[in-house]
Order: sequence, then structure tokens, then C-alpha cells
Amino acid sequence: MEVTFLGTSSAVPSKNRNHTSIALRIPGEVFLFDCGEGTQRQMAIAGISPMKVTRMFITHLHGDHILGIPGMIQSMGFRGRQEPLEIYGPPGIHELHESIMKLGYFTLDFDIHVHEVKGGTVLEEEDYRITSAPASHSVFNLAYCFEEKKRPRFLREKAIELGLKPGPAFGKLHRGIPVRVGDRIIKPEEVLGSPRRGVKICYSGDTRPCESVIDLAREADLLIHESTFEAGSEDKAAESGHSTAREAAEVAASACVRRLILTHLSTRYKRTEVILNAAREVFPETDVADDLMTVEVKADDSGSSA
Ligand SMILES: [Zn+2]
Ligand SMILES: [Zn+2]
Repeated sequence: MEVTFLGTSSAVPSKNRNHTSIALRIPGEVFLFDCGEGTQRQMAIAGISPMKVTRMFITHLHGDHILGIPGMIQSMGFRGRQEPLEIYGPPGIHELHESIMKLGYFTLDFDIHVHEVKGGTVLEEEDYRITSAPASHSVFNLAYCFEEKKRPRFLREKAIELGLKPGPAFGKLHRGIPVRVGDRIIKPEEVLGSPRRGVKICYSGDTRPCESVIDLAREADLLIHESTFEAGSEDKAAESGHSTAREAAEVAASACVRRLILTHLSTRYKRTEVILNAAREVFPETDVADDLMTVEVKADDSGSSA
């Protein structure tokens, strides 16, 4: 599972930092979290096709998080996209979609399904779930959490011992469906090991440090938290509904996450070491995102006996 930071600036982009967007690549799908201006160009440089984006999750409706959507959708149309696109976002997302459809003369051959989210479960699939929680910004902002549902390990030798042959029966049992062999029913629990932890990734969007993000990110493998200001600018951060690097690190420590990556950096700070050092004093497993940085995220299976 790979996370690519397509843009890491706050309100204003710079030579080195584009507006906010994060791509999450899971088997068979690409998700975009926020879609700031210029995101489709960043995707081209990163080698991620917008045609593979199945779902977009928008944290809030500030321009630096949404102004890439119109161009992205129009390019998808020009390229002949047929597959539907799902867009999830806070209240106001339907009006945003309607406005986008009036921008410029274009037609689309694919459907866009817009989903208004206020918090809680966003979607539940066989292999993963996405949940959300309102955070604490100057406008309504959603933090999102991706959680992989990892099936218990399949005990192949045990299944063969019980008289099963490799094939569709293995898949059925792995999905929790009993299978008949002769006059005996094999139950899934007979051939499945202990449950395994899947990958958990949480993204804060723009926010003050808050309990709802701590709860959502609890024991995540990766927390991506905004860090608009450096330590010493707590007043500015509080006034504008943002966090400092140290505050983001405190959230990571409280949530007991494995790794923290800071993003949404003010372009006034040229030296990221200052931000990094302040955060690492509180939470050593911290990095600062750069544009086009990709990280692989794996689940911590150390607690599993299977
Ligand atoms: Zn922002
Ligand atoms: Zn904002």
C-alpha cells in the first residue's frame, strides 16, 4: 500500500510545494485525499493516472483543497473515462459539484456520485473501510481514516489434511463460507488462523490539535497531520484553525500511532529541519512530507500469532 504526497503546501503554493493532495494506492484502486490546484499535473509527474482514481475524499471546502477538481474531471472526460467517480466531502459538496459542472463547456461520459459526509462510517467494502470525524478548523473539516480488513491467514496444509483440494473451495473458506467435502461440512474456523491487523492510515485535513483526530487515529500505522506553523507560532495557529509541528506531534503521541508525517506547510518556512526537530522532540517517528514523496505503509503484524 503506497501513499504519495502530490502537494504539501498550505494556502499558497511555492516552487517546491504544490497545493494539497495525497494519493493512496491500494490493490486495484487509487484514492485521492483532497485535490488542490495542479494535482493532475503532479499525478503525471508521479506516474499515477487520474483515470485510475476511483474515489476522492475531500476534507473541507477551502480552495487549496478543492480547486484541482474541475480540471481533473474535465481531463478525465477528454480521455474518455467511462467508469463512475465517487466524491465524498463535507456538507456543501453537492453545491460544489453543481458549480464545477457549470465551469467551461464540457460533457462527461461517466457518472459522478457525490456523497455528503458529516462524520462516522463513510464506506464499508469487503477489504477495507473508511471512517471520518469532524476535526477543528475555521470551517467544517473532516479527518479520514482508511482501515484495511485483513482476513485471517489461510491454513493450506490443514485444509488439504481435511480432504480439500486447492481451488474455489479455498477461496470460499477464506471468505468465511463453509464448504462440503463428501458428507462433511468444513467450517471456516477449522482452516483459518488468528485474525491479522490490516493497515490503518489517518489524514487530519486542516485542524487544530483535537480529541476527535486522536480517537480516529488511535494506533494507526501512519498519521498524516497538518503542520502549517512551526513551534513558537501557537497563537497564529490557534487564530487560523491550524496546528504547529509540536502540536501535531503531541496528537501522534496521544494517539499512539507508529509513524507521523507532517504536511500542509506554510511556504514562509524555508527550512523544514526546524519543523522536524520540534516535532521529533515530542514524537521521534516523525518525517516532513515533500512533494512527490512516496511511502510504503505496512501493517504491524507483530501482535499476531498467525
Ligand atoms: Zn488548507
Ligand atoms: Zn483550510
